[in-house]
Formats: sequence, C-alpha cells, structure tokens
Amino acid sequence: WYAAMEQRRMGMGSVGGKVPLGLRRKRLRVVVTGGAGFVGSHLVDRLIERGDSVIVVDNFFTGSKENVMHHLGNPSFELIRHDVVEPLLLEVDQIYHLACPASPVHYKFNPIYKTNVVGTLNMLGLAKRVGARFLLTSTSEVYGDPLQHPQVETYWGNVNPIGVRSCYDEGKRTAETLTMDYHRGAQVEVRIARIFNTYGPRMCIDDGRVVSNFVAQALRKEAMTVYGDGKQTRSFQYVSDLVEGLMRLMEGEHVGPFNLGNPGEFTMLELAKVVQDTIDPNARIEFRQNTEDDPHKRKPDITRAKELLGWEPKISLRKGLPLMVSDFRKRIFGDHNPSTD
Ligand code: NAD
Ligand code: UDP
Ligand code: UDP
Repeated sequence: WYAAMEQRRMGMGSVGGKVPLGLRRKRLRVVVTGGAGFVGSHLVDRLIERGDSVIVVDNFFTGSKENVMHHLGNPSFELIRHDVVEPLLLEVDQIYHLACPASPVHYKFNPIYKTNVVGTLNMLGLAKRVGARFLLTSTSEVYGDPLQHPQVETYWGNVNPIGVRSCYDEGKRTAETLTMDYHRGAQVEVRIARIFNTYGPRMCIDDGRVVSNFVAQALRKEAMTVYGDGKQTRSFQYVSDLVEGLMRLMEGEHVGPFNLGNPGEFTMLELAKVVQDTIDPNARIEFRQNTEDDPHKRKPDITRAKELLGWEPKISLRKGLPLMVSDFRKRIFGDHNPSTD
C-alpha cells in the first residue's frame, strides 16, 4: 500500500498515462544491477508495476534493502546479493546495468574503476550468452570539465585520466567502449544513457552529493556547504523523469548514446536559494574549499532524446525538490516533524 501511495504521490503512474505496458506486451524477465540504489529502486517500481518479472542484483555498497523492501514477498521480484565484478549466470530478456556508486564521496573513497570495467564486461558477457538487451547507465561525467556548452552527444569530452574522479569518468568511458565493442563484435543489442545529475526520494542522505547535502543540512538547521565560489553549474533532473527516459530508451530502436537530463541549469548558489525557498528562508550558507577537478559547468543538450525517444523531462527543480524534502524529512526525523512544532 505504501509503495502504491508513494508512486501515486510521485506521479509515477503508467508510461505517459497510456495503457500500462504490461497489458499489451509479453511479460519480460528483467535484471536491474544496482536495483537497491536510488535510481535503480525507482526503476524497479515501474517495471514491477507494468507486470515484468524483476531480479535485482546488488552488493549493497551504497544501496539498501529498505529501498526495495516493499517488493519482498512478491513472486515477480527477486533480490540477489552479488558483486557484479564476479561472473553471474541468469536467464533474462533485458539487463539494466546500474551497479556503480554514483557519489564522488563514495568513489573517491573506494575507487570503482574495476566495478565499471569488470562489472560491465560480465553483464555484457551475460547479455551475449542469453541474447538479452543491455542498457548501460553512463554519465554526463564522460564529458569531464566540458569545453562545449551545453553538451551534445557528439562531444568527446575533456577528462583527466589520472585525477581523483578518473575511476568514475574513465570507468564509464571504458564501459561505453566495451558496450559498443559487444554491439559491433558480438551483435549484442545495446543502449547507452548518459545521465545528468538526478535527485529525488531515496537518495542516500549522507552521500555527499550537493542536493542531498543541502536538503539534509537545511532540515537539520546546519549551514549549507557551498564548495568554491558556488558559481559552478549543474542541471538537476527529477528521478521519475529519468526512469521514464531509461525505459523509453530500452524499449526503443536506438543505441544512443542519449543525454538524459533536465536542461534547467543552476549555479550552486542558485540551488541553495531554491532550497532556502523550499525549506527554510533563514538557512545559512557556508563556503568551503572546492574539490579537485570539479567540472565548472554542465547542461545537457537533449535534442536527440526529444526527437528519437519522444522524451523530455516534465518536473522542474522547484516542483521536484518538495517531493524529495518530504521523503528526507521522514527519514531524518521519523514521525517527529520539527517544522510543525
Ligand atoms: P546509487 O549509489 O544509489 O546506486 C548504485 C547501486 O549499485 C547501489 O545499490 C550499490 O549498492 C550498487 N552497487 C555498487 N557497486 C556494486 C557492485 N560492484 N556490485 C553490485 N552492486 C553494486 O547511485 P544512483 O544514483 O542510483 O546511480 C545509479 C547509476 O546511475 C550508476 O551507474 C550511476 O553511475 C548512474 N548515474 C547516476 C547519476 C545521478 O545523479 N544519480 C548521474 C549519472 C549517472
Ligand atoms: N559472463 C557472466 N555470465 C554469463 C556469461 C559471461 O558473468 O552468463 C562473464 C564471463 O565470466 C566473462 C565475461 O562475462 O568474464 C565476458 O564473457 P565473454 O563470453 O564475452 O568473454 P570470454 O569469457 O570469452 O572472455
Ligand atoms: N557541492 C557543493 N556542496 C556540497 C556538495 C557538492 O557545493 O555540499 C558542489 C560540487 O563542488 C559540484 C556540485 O556541487 O560543483 C555537484 O556536486 P555533486 O557531487 O552533487 O555532483 P557531480 O560533481 O558529480 O556533478
């Protein structure tokens, strides 16, 4: 019941409000690696809702059972604790490959190049063996600190190969290369999404990403930590828009890569202002030294996804942020809500 209510609240009904896909297509067996994480768990909700049989493969490094707990006991749902760096034998129709920590705090602490390379290789080997369609969740980070703005898929990027972020940036670039190799060399059906910064309910509260940091800090009456001068930009996408894009990409005809992101671009100071307006007009800001190799700006050009997938984001930051804030409020304070005291 909770899951159904939450989905309704977050506007995550059937695709585009049309007939649920489950009613007009065969039931698929779908693997979601990283399905216990932030994005993965929302994707799993949608796949289950449309009537597919879903296997989550996750080692719970940054994800948690809580995110998928509402499906435990459902015969269409299976949860496997497994590190994708190890081979895996399954019989499936589609593989959404998300397994990889996405926050700089996590991947700098535990460099994840091997997860990106060996994990992706294993899932491609699996796709090849069983003839499954494979979707890679790559990232806007493949553009590095971009010299082209906004970023178009044809831009090759500006990445430091030996920096603190390289395990992620170069890892995803290699994952894209492997994906195209298996497509060209072994005729695996593949799809590549380049995801831009995404936020929403179930984000890790303390994973260090900017939206989760600012929201948690403002709720806890701590100062919001702005790194550097706060003039760097990002474009923030609400998670249900991303999930819609991923499913359209998987079901569509095109390999990609496709940028999936919201073109609304904000400086970190502007983001802090939106958080103030949403949570607490008196929330303070504190400046901190910026991290190494931090990209100065980022904004997707989504012309390709609009034209070929018929997709574009629907939820602006000002509309999406309150949905995340109510989830964070519940998780931080439980039933006790200081704002209503
Ligand atoms: P997340 O950290 O919440 O989820 C990642 C999941 O993968 C977690 O459940 C984690 O436990 C699992 N995982 C990590 N290493 C694993 C391994 N070796 N074996 C099995 N499972 C493993 O992150 P997210 O934000 O949900 O990101 C999902 C995917 O989307 C990632 O591939 C990420 O690179 C990509 N992406 C996300 C964003 C974003 O802003 N959220 C932006 C660009 C790309
Ligand atoms: N693999 C896997 N599950 C499968 C098939 C393959 O995990 O169902 C792994 C396999 O262990 C290998 C990788 O995927 O490490 C690549 O497999 P592929 O068959 O393409 O390459 P090869 O084993 O011939 O090097
Ligand atoms: N950032 C910030 N305060 C924080 C966390 C991050 O100002 O508490 C900045 C960070 O320097 C970067 C931007 O916010 O410029 C986005 O950082 P995040 O880690 O969320 O995503 P990514 O850098 O991977 O896009």
